[in-house]
Amino acid sequence: MTAPQPLAPGEIGTWAAPGRVNLIGEHLDYVGGPVMPIALDLRTTVKVRRRDDGRVRVWSGISDRSVEFGADTTPGDVKGWARYVAGTVWALAQSGHRTGGADLVVSSDVPLGAGLSSSAALECGVAVALAGAEGWEIDPITLALTCQRGENEYVGAPTGSMDQLASLCGEKGHALMIETAPTPPSVRAVPAHWVEDGYALVVVDTQAKHSLATGEYGVRRAQTEELGELLGVDRLASAPPDAVLKVDDPVLKARLRHVITETQRVRSAARALSSRDWAQFGQLMSASHASLRDDYEVSAPELDLTVETAMENGALGARMTGGGFGGSAIALVEADRVEAVGEAVAAAFARVDFTAPRTFVVAPADGATRLS
Ligand code: ADP
Ligand code: MG
Repeated sequence: MTAPQPLAPGEIGTWAAPGRVNLIGEHLDYVGGPVMPIALDLRTTVKVRRRDDGRVRVWSGISDRSVEFGADTTPGDVKGWARYVAGTVWALAQSGHRTGGADLVVSSDVPLGAGLSSSAALECGVAVALAGAEGWEIDPITLALTCQRGENEYVGAPTGSMDQLASLCGEKGHALMIETAPTPPSVRAVPAHWVEDGYALVVVDTQAKHSLATGEYGVRRAQTEELGELLGVDRLASAPPDAVLKVDDPVLKARLRHVITETQRVRSAARALSSRDWAQFGQLMSASHASLRDDYEVSAPELDLTVETAMENGALGARMTGGGFGGSAIALVEADRVEAVGEAVAAAFARVDFTAPRTFVVAPADGATRLS
């Protein structure tokens, strides 16, 4: 394979990276468990032009001001939305790929803060744009871990690797079966045929953005670390089912029960996906939601109402997706029920004065790619 050609001086290249929804396997990517996301047909586009002065300047459609920083930026330099970009520049430099400078123009149709991972779409879009502009050849899994490092250590969000892996490795028509441990993670694309079989995957962006999200996410991570120490395992997702008997604290016991049962559900869901058993797949989605609501306690009233209403209106299964405390839920429904489910959820939200949700259908799309 020939090495990619860097952009010539003044030349503009365009790359894009998608958001994702996770079908099942929630809060497992930081305990070494399996996850099953798809990349979305919603994406963040990054136009890039090289600079030779060691400076990076970035514009985004969400802000009327550009942000400029050095290619040698370190954590703490850049605040606000541009820290996701600076974090990617920093993490790439840490792995030996320091940009000589770049102008970056970002636009996105991934809703921000909706649990569809606009953050990973931005990081991965910037990463593939810089790699393309400089002619760096970096495999997608390494690049995903680099973007995750930027989000963890520069932005300060303690997320796992799923979002970046989905954004970079997505495949049209396929779900991704990701084993997040051992390192490096492995990603296998599995054909996902629900559309051919007459079903649709509906996303309900509940518009709820809970202030708890980041802090509580960190608390869950800390609790899983405590459990790992208590049980003497470094991958909590591989703890045997009877490990729950060894935990006395009721909160920690419930957290562990989620990790163990969710891991089993992903395994079962992989089989259901392969055998096109959508009723079974749906049941696993709903069981995942109950576990996230009751044992892991990361749901929100808007998510619970969406799931409940979707199920009452004929969904095969429904669950919150992403970190929780707001954001989006997904439901697997018969294709001709999409509108009815959307209307029922909107009506249920109106009855209790929740902000009107946004409902749309998604299908598995390709991961990050060059557009021009
Ligand atoms: P999610 O990843 O679920 O959308 P996060 O809170 O992880 O939510 O990330 C959202 C944040 O990422 C935004 O508040 C903003 O700071 C940044 N971001 C994402 N996309 C863009 C974009 N296109 N332009 C500028 N900032 C963005
Ligand atoms: Mg995010």
